[in-house]
Amino acid sequence: MFERIQELVNNEGISLMGVAPVDRFEGAPRGHHPKDFIPTTKSIVVFGIGLLPAAVAHGDLMCDSEIFSESLRKKVGQDYLYALSAYEIPNALLERVAMRSALMLQQAGYNTFYFPVTFGLLVRPITADMPDVFAPFSHRHAAVRAGLAEFGLNNIVVTPRFGPRVRFTSLVTEAELPPTPLLKEKVCLGNACAACVESCPAKAITISAGIEEDLFWLNPPSRTNKKSCVDSARTRFCRGICQKVCPVHEGIWG
Ligand code: SF4
Ligand code: SF4
Repeated sequence: MFERIQELVNNEGISLMGVAPVDRFEGAPRGHHPKDFIPTTKSIVVFGIGLLPAAVAHGDLMCDSEIFSESLRKKVGQDYLYALSAYEIPNALLERVAMRSALMLQQAGYNTFYFPVTFGLLVRPITADMPDVFAPFSHRHAAVRAGLAEFGLNNIVVTPRFGPRVRFTSLVTEAELPPTPLLKEKVCLGNACAACVESCPAKAITISAGIEEDLFWLNPPSRTNKKSCVDSARTRFCRGICQKVCPVHEGIWG
């Protein structure tokens, strides 16, 4: 049955998949541990899609347009082309694959739950009422624990293949699936790089005091002021700039 999930993932063009045994989630916040969704959870499966470089570089699209004013060009680039091509549409594919995988596991007799991606545009009315935005389940923490990434100074996760330009979703299941090993080496280049922090026009990312540069970051080494981030994206159209500048990637990315 796990082979059927791997086949689905390959056929659907999902870029990354990893499995974390539940014991890697020790210390998760109360109410947000995998067992807070299914008490008998044994495995967490994480799916990721690497984003298209041109979509992340939305600020560079249609430069010198003779049709759109500069402000309209930026708005269309960020709130339409990027929002759909690098956000809602990859999210929809991730949710579809997670749902189909969850159904396969459930039909094989394992209680399983899949999560939607974290707060897409369709559910913005929910996040509008939150003083700060926290997901029910952290796909970032799950991706690190499933051996797909390390937390980066950007306060999102960095994969060896796509850097931070990945969307994720996850499922939790009673099935005991073959775990993916944790990454052995650091991926984020740390303070020697810090391009993500320096590129942020809102100075919304703050590096935590006392971070240990040489350790593999299983948890975030920084915080993001989410209100500043949202406000800045609205006024400066900087959504994803902190991802675009990250030098980590393999092959021909960007
Ligand atoms: S999206 Fe914009 S404001 Fe938010 S962290 Fe990235 S660069 Fe900064
Ligand atoms: S831009 Fe540099 S510091 Fe930021 S996440 Fe990427 S490698 Fe780490």
